[in-house]
Amino acid sequence: MEQRIKGTTGLLALIGSPVGHSGSPDMYNFCFRYHNLDYCYMAFDIKEDQVPAALDAMRLFNMRGCNVTMPCKTAAAQNMDELSDAARIIGAVNTIVNENGKLVGHMTDGIGFVENLRDHGVDVKGKKMVVLGAGGAATAIQVQCALDGAASISIFNPNDPFLDRAKNTAAKLKKEVPDCDVQVFCIEDQDKLKEEIAKADILVNGTLAGMKPHEDVSLITDKSVFRPDLVVCDVVYNPEETRLLREAREAGCAKTIGGKGMLLWQGVAAYKLYTGLDMPVEEYKKFQA
Ligand code: NAD
Repeated sequence: MEQRIKGTTGLLALIGSPVGHSGSPDMYNFCFRYHNLDYCYMAFDIKEDQVPAALDAMRLFNMRGCNVTMPCKTAAAQNMDELSDAARIIGAVNTIVNENGKLVGHMTDGIGFVENLRDHGVDVKGKKMVVLGAGGAATAIQVQCALDGAASISIFNPNDPFLDRAKNTAAKLKKEVPDCDVQVFCIEDQDKLKEEIAKADILVNGTLAGMKPHEDVSLITDKSVFRPDLVVCDVVYNPEETRLLREAREAGCAKTIGGKGMLLWQGVAAYKLYTGLDMPVEEYKKFQA
């Protein structure tokens, strides 16, 4: 690394809090070295109220870009010069690209979800979807799938404060993407859930259910909803196969897709925005092994 950093080296970083555990510096620095790009990547612990100062520093240091993690995603979106369509509708960014002094905010979580499905041979265009959840991950999926041509999205959430966020997303999508029919229901209405899944091509868990230490939880309690042609997806990546995915696979669903690929593909999308290049994913996996 010492031999690589020169007077010309450009800086990228992860901002958020905490960031000390992040694997991003290792991954990005490997990729820059692999592509012989004169960049280096750091992680900075930035609290929400420090976001405007961090963005000023980004401009001052002429940084090429930043990945943004919690709790900074919303504050960053509020301080961009420009936003991608998805970031604007969601009101949050996870990737900032410095385009000659103009900070452009993107949200690649939804792109990562769509790309992961494509990698598994599934195109969201024209599909009917049921998405459980209305937090950060679920909203990014709902917005990107609507932008990418999903025919309908039925959002189910527990009757908690996130339910209003789902209604807000549905209202925005009705205006921005009128061709996609978006409806919101309480997950407590199990008859409606069953009815909507019966009509759907793709079922997605976008909630915390199934994530460690709640591995025993699945929001689908009636396993009769699983059919061979229902694609079942989870945003949760730890464990890699959640209870939902295991039960769907055991019930005969041909495609069950975990969250690990979404995580990978959202990073691939960010790398492309920064460099214009495809992330050397296989090479990095070998480097890690
Ligand atoms: P969030 O806090 O923004 O949203 C939480 C959601 O879960 C809400 O819809 C909430 O109503 C629901 N919820 C909370 N407790 C619940 C419970 N006990 N039962 C049912 N639903 C419950 O969280 P987030 O950032 O959207 O993260 C959700 C999951 O997505 C996490 O497991 C996270 O690791 C994962 N995630 C994955 C990726 C990826 O790339 N694969 C990206 C982001 C988040």
